[in-house]
Formats: sequence, structure tokens, C-alpha cells
Amino acid sequence: MQTAPEPTRDHCSRRTSSAARALLLALLAASLAACVPPNGPSVNPNTPPATPAPAATPAVAKAPDKGDFKVATRPPDPDMTAEEKKDYDEEIKSLQETADALNKSFSLPHDIYIGFDDCEEANAFYDPEKKKVTVCYELAEDLYEAFKKDYKTDEQVEDAVTNATTFVFYHELGHALVDAYDLPITGREEDAVDQLSVLLLADGTPEGEQMVLDAAVSFSKQASGELDELAFADEHSLDQQRYYNIICLLYGQNEEKFASLVKDGTLPESRAQKCSDEYARVDKAWDALLAPYTK
Ligand SMILES: [Zn+2]
Repeated sequence: MQTAPEPTRDHCSRRTSSAARALLLALLAASLAACVPPNGPSVNPNTPPATPAPAATPAVAKAPDKGDFKVATRPPDPDMTAEEKKDYDEEIKSLQETADALNKSFSLPHDIYIGFDDCEEANAFYDPEKKKVTVCYELAEDLYEAFKKDYKTDEQVEDAVTNATTFVFYHELGHALVDAYDLPITGREEDAVDQLSVLLLADGTPEGEQMVLDAAVSFSKQASGELDELAFADEHSLDQQRYYNIICLLYGQNEEKFASLVKDGTLPESRAQKCSDEYARVDKAWDALLAPYTK
């Protein structure tokens, strides 16, 4: 969620729960289905076909592919038990599959690393110096606590956590792409990469759309009633604003399918009226920004 360099860590100082590892492995499996297809994020099968472009429209010049998504490995921990080693090996394998899928979609100017780590805080980062996306195990643990009151079974809670964490992974991936391509973002980058995460995940499949919904709910849960000046000064929109922005894009992507969001009062009518245009605008913008870099 932040672009600040990662904090210094002691990899051996804290044992991550195997539950958090399992959740993040599920994240990878789920996110493989959500990778960017050949023509960028505008992939929703429910989106009406665009007006055919005139034949004379020049093709977008494609950037050369000079880098890859790579798995960020950690130094071997001599104290790892056999079970932890097995979990770690599975984690690396899943990360590699995610990297492979991303490499099929994007041309990069340099390598970008993706990985999970203990961060001693519930967060996720893109580090522009190391060119590295990190999702913290603590984030999954934190979300588990936040969601566990809402569901009857562990499996349901884990699904919600996986979904919300996947959204965060794509948000951080968005920061990495903005940096890699030096994309001209107007407005706040934090909002822009939230939008990208919605565009990538809300692909018309129930699974992808549920990820977006669960992510929105996770922001609503993080919203605190009392806000201090630092919250207003923050580079991120307020959590409750992120919630409505995400819900609005989901609704705007398919008003008929998500009509219940307005009917049940989740999304106020006054905002809902603008969401279709809002979705079309951000979809067009990201499509144009990423066109030179998608394979
Ligand atoms: Zn961010």
C-alpha cells in the first residue's frame, strides 16, 4: 500500500504462521486467473464492444522486452523445520508460476521482483530502489482477524482474506508498473493503482468480482471513526473513500449485474449515476497507458 522503501528486517526473528503462508499461496493460485490478457486491462466480456477503429489507425508501437518478473528469494534459514522448508519451496514455486504468467502479459524495461516476507507490520510495499513488490505475511494475518467475525467457517474467512490480499498484490504491481514505464499519472497514484487492481480483477468472472468486493469491504473495516490531520494529509484516500471508489468501479463495469449494490444502499444513488462513465474513463486511460507494454 505504500511505496516507501521496506523496513530493515531480521528474517529469523519471527515465525510466520503456516495459515498466513497457506493464504498467500492461495492468493497466487487465484491471481493466475486474473493476469492481464493480450490487449491490456480492457477485458471484461460484459463490456460492450468498442466502436471499430478506422482502418487507418496506426498500431501502437510496442516497447522492447528487456526484463522479467522474478521471484524474490530469501536467505536460507538454518533453523527452518522440514515442514517450513516444504512450505517455503511451495511458495517459491507458486511465485514462479505467477511471475511466468505476468511475463507472458507484460514487456518490462528491467526485472521486477515479487515475494512474500515478514515485515513486522501488516502491509505491502513496492520498493522502487530494489524494484521489488513485497506482500507481508502480517497483512494476511491482520485481514484474517478483521474478517473472522463475518463468517461461520474458516474456509469462508480464508477466501475473503485471499481475495482482499490479491487486490493488494495487484495494487502494488500497479506501483511497480508506474515506476517501470514512468507512466504519466495525474491525480494520486494510490487511487490510480487501486483503479488498475479493479480493472485487472473485475474481469466478468464471479471469482474476480468477489475479490474486488472483499477488498472494498477490507478497506471499510480499516476505516476508523475518528480521523486526525495525518489521515487527511495521507497520500492514500481515506479508507472509506477507497471503499466507495472500488464499489463504484465495480458497479460501473456492469450496472445491471450489480444493481443490488444501489438497491440495498451499499452505493448511494448520487454516486452510482456517475460510475459507468467513471469506469469507462479509467479503463480507457489504463488501456492507453499500458498499450505499448502489453504482449
Ligand atoms: Zn499503494
